[in-house]
Amino acid sequence: MTTVQNLIGGERVGDPELARHNPANPGEIVAVTPASDASAVHAAVSAAEQAQGAWAALPAPARGAILLDAADLLRSRHSQVAEDLSREEGKTLAEATGEVRRAIDVLRFFGSLAWQASGEVLPSAMPGTTIFTRREPVGVAALITPWNFPIAIPAWKMAPALVSGNAVVIKPAELTPLSVAHLSNALVEAGLPAGVLNVVHGTGSVAGDALARDPRVAALSFTGSTRVGLGLHTILSERRARVQLEMGGKNAYLILDDADPLAAAKVVAASAFSLTGQACTATSRVYCTPGIMEAFLTALAKEAEAFTMGPVVSEQQLAVDVSAIDVARAEGATVLTGGDVPSGQFLRPTVLTGLAHTSSVVRDEIFGPVVAVLGVDSYEEGLARVNDSRYGLTAGICTRDLTAAHHFAAHAQVGVVKVNRPTTGLDLNVPFGGVKDSSSNTFREQGTAALDFYTWSKTVYLGHE
Ligand code: ADP
Repeated sequence: MTTVQNLIGGERVGDPELARHNPANPGEIVAVTPASDASAVHAAVSAAEQAQGAWAALPAPARGAILLDAADLLRSRHSQVAEDLSREEGKTLAEATGEVRRAIDVLRFFGSLAWQASGEVLPSAMPGTTIFTRREPVGVAALITPWNFPIAIPAWKMAPALVSGNAVVIKPAELTPLSVAHLSNALVEAGLPAGVLNVVHGTGSVAGDALARDPRVAALSFTGSTRVGLGLHTILSERRARVQLEMGGKNAYLILDDADPLAAAKVVAASAFSLTGQACTATSRVYCTPGIMEAFLTALAKEAEAFTMGPVVSEQQLAVDVSAIDVARAEGATVLTGGDVPSGQFLRPTVLTGLAHTSSVVRDEIFGPVVAVLGVDSYEEGLARVNDSRYGLTAGICTRDLTAAHHFAAHAQVGVVKVNRPTTGLDLNVPFGGVKDSSSNTFREQGTAALDFYTWSKTVYLGHE
């Protein structure tokens, strides 16, 4: 068991109060953390505010060098970090290893970006005048992160915030404190000045809420549920502070008759069951045109039965998943495969058929390894079903028809379209975000687009004789 304290102004403080259990072995306590109150959060924001000016005054490449050194430190201990991540979150060691590599690459990407030009030089109508823009840091950036990617999401929010000269206060998910501790330790050991990065552990309703309400927080980036995200949007918008939200999804896949049923089944199984279905980009609805339905279902059942998954993250989440399957059964669903819990928190990958389009299992987010397959008569009906959702994060289409693929890319109401590739998994250099209730639909995350959220543009006129 590891004690993980808060990091405030370079000091490790706070008494251990909240315990996190290993979801694969619930008797084992993995970590204990403080349950911070508003005063700890305000101290962290004060430390950030104090440290930010000197940090922003450093040359950008000096800030980037710290991110690059932190990447090297994480790389040197990546197997330990992956083991801890797997123990606290439950994903398989292979998945955890991939996620730690992603965090390392994110630090390298933004660390190197520090050498790139930022801002623009513009012509002026006035003689003897040069105009240029500066990208200014917002100041103190707050990050509230979920448990499902416990090191990658903190890394892809922290790295662009830090490299552009902001100080950060992060409130990590209660369930996964160790992964953020590894990330923040690497940054501190790499030379990040005290107060530039602060970590406060605790519950969302107390520590998270206090962080969002602190008026010195200039920008808040959040990933989590739609319910919490919409509440945070109200709080931040009232004081006209920036807010970036990545929230729920009910991502859909459309399988057309011309697709290869085996390839389509592999893509859908990866989309629905990797990370135990606990990714905001996971597929949970599949629409098939009539000619491929039978062959696809046979192949999908086989893929599901052979799929290796970790446990569901918590007893509460398992109860949500099992109850959704019970509701589906009551609504007349056939459980094609899975639907049971062979041991502990291990739910079998579950494929449901025979549901109506109006079924709650087809409409509401579950966040587990449960996918519903429904029939549609045509591509047009499939596209309409895909778009008939309050969410709009990702959507996929399996087809060899380029016309259909391009039409889908243009008309799917989502932030990310995948053709013949799983809805889960994005490269680190691409803009990521959704529309409708999936996202604040303003600033994108990842890639160079991420820098926009953490900076604002100042225009400078320079007159010379
Ligand atoms: P999930 O269902 O994935 O746990 P949540 O939205 O509940 O999603 O949690 C995501 C993050 O938001 C966590 O760090 C959690 O502690 C935090 N959080 C939860 N409720 C609030 C709240 N009322 N205010 C601020 N942060 C919150």
